[in-house]
Amino acid sequence: MVGIKGNKYWEKRGEPGETKRRIRSLIESDPTISTSSLIELLGISGSAIQRHIAGMPDIERVRVSKSLTKCLGCSKEIRRKNKYGMCRSCYKLSHSLEFNCTECGKSNVVTGSLAHQRRKELKKNPDRNQFCNHSCAATFTFNEYWNKRKEAQ
Ligand SMILES: [Zn+2]
Ligand SMILES: [Zn+2]
Repeated sequence: MVGIKGNKYWEKRGEPGETKRRIRSLIESDPTISTSSLIELLGISGSAIQRHIAGMPDIERVRVSKSLTKCLGCSKEIRRKNKYGMCRSCYKLSHSLEFNCTECGKSNVVTGSLAHQRRKELKKNPDRNQFCNHSCAATFTFNEYWNKRKEAQ
């Protein structure tokens, strides 16, 4: 295995047990040090590091949870599994949809699955009528019906 050039730990690498000693001193000086940092500093593989650490049951490592990450919007801690990379409220905000009611002209904001549904419908039909609620929709349909009847006469 070839060490990273200029890596001071690698250059000093010597007798067996030396790596173990270095791992110990690194962890002791920074209990939150990640395995990837150790890999970088020592120039050895992650599994080798794990093996060394397993052989030092007295050593204390403070695990920084890998399952959490920061929300892209507000830097709140969220689960790394979260496919949106955002907390609920940021996701809702970023995925809200604003529209004006076809009937009364009032501006409405919908969020979450409602916004998702509307966006899908608008993609199919961009001129689609949108309403605040059923009552606006009913008024519109009613007026449209009577206008058509008037036109027909
Ligand atoms: Zn957020
Ligand atoms: Zn309305």
